[in-house]
Amino acid sequence: MKAMGACAAGLAAIFAVSGHLVAQRGAAAERLALVNATVVNVATGTLQDGQTIVLDAGRIASLGPGPAPPGVRAIDIRNRWVVPGLIDAHVHIGSVQQMRAALQSGVTTVRSAGVSHYVDVGLRELVKQGHLAGPDMLAAGYHVRTMPAPELFLSDPELGDLMGGVTSVDGLRRVVRANLAHGVDWIKVNATERAGTPDTDPRKQMFSAAELEVIVGEAALKSIPVQAHAHGAEGADAAVKAGVRSIEHGTYLTDATLKLMAAQGTFFVPTADIVTDLAEPGGDYDDAALQRRGQMMLPILKAAVGRAKAFGVKIAAGSDTGYGPRSVTTLAREVVALSDAGLTPLEALQSATVRNAELLQREKQVGQLAPGLEADVLVVAENPLQNIRALLDPLVVISNGRVALDRLNFGK
Ligand SMILES: [Zn+2]
Repeated sequence: MKAMGACAAGLAAIFAVSGHLVAQRGAAAERLALVNATVVNVATGTLQDGQTIVLDAGRIASLGPGPAPPGVRAIDIRNRWVVPGLIDAHVHIGSVQQMRAALQSGVTTVRSAGVSHYVDVGLRELVKQGHLAGPDMLAAGYHVRTMPAPELFLSDPELGDLMGGVTSVDGLRRVVRANLAHGVDWIKVNATERAGTPDTDPRKQMFSAAELEVIVGEAALKSIPVQAHAHGAEGADAAVKAGVRSIEHGTYLTDATLKLMAAQGTFFVPTADIVTDLAEPGGDYDDAALQRRGQMMLPILKAAVGRAKAFGVKIAAGSDTGYGPRSVTTLAREVVALSDAGLTPLEALQSATVRNAELLQREKQVGQLAPGLEADVLVVAENPLQNIRALLDPLVVISNGRVALDRLNFGK
């Protein structure tokens, strides 16, 4: 639901810190052994203590009991709890600093949910090439919506005739194709209006099911999945029927739509914590009218999460923040919010790991601690299956085998 306004500032920030790129870059991933680790298996909910995790060339080389291999730098985890690096399925990151803030909060993979100037494509490439520490980025470019962000026409001036609005199916196809031409991994469509601006009604449907089918079909020609921003019942239902892979927000989802999502395997990304942000002063949103709106929406959304769980819908975790300097919301906070909404601590942890890996079709790369997967590791001070809030204050974050945060001297 995030505004595009932050993105111009984000672009300026990239240039402002370009001198810091090298400082953040770090050396190539060294061989590392994490010893005395209590490993949380997020697939099964089982714990194994006394584990040694060997990281090599950005991957997990081995995991099991025993000492560190000779000649490998060992980090003593001191029996703290180790989980896979978290995956944030809904971000609006637009700068290097925001990438760093996300990483240091424990997030090692993100899916963009729309940003201006294809900044997410650039950030993805900088991480892929090793110039920038994680998180790994999946890009989504510009939102497909009836009134595109004005910046779209600066990035893709050949779409200039659509500046007054996208009113035809051909126009929708062209906006999707422009995004695909920039190499996005996902298409983001706004199936309803936004909640985060006072003069839009999040219940209002933006596209018919037929129009959404055109968008999904155009993306499918390049095997690209679609994520749909949808608060209102009708817009969300149309998006599900059109075959989007995930519904973002989903505040007013009906039982009928939730049952269809369960049957089709459509993912639900509730982004509950950003609605808490909406409802409170400060943070990403700081507006009196939006506070009242957020206070109305939050219990409805949390009830929707409970109903989704009851129907067997796949619930995935997304923060909907840009990890900016004023942001309070993080993916860890979203995991806590999902737990508060009725998920068990294990289910909430899964929403940010294995479930999100499935949503992103990245199960063979991320989401679990297993040999061959990316060396994305988060260490926390308490057992997250007993206290999910342990995720809020990470001790160690490792992304692609590089240590991004080390506070092992914190606590006992
Ligand atoms: Zn969003």
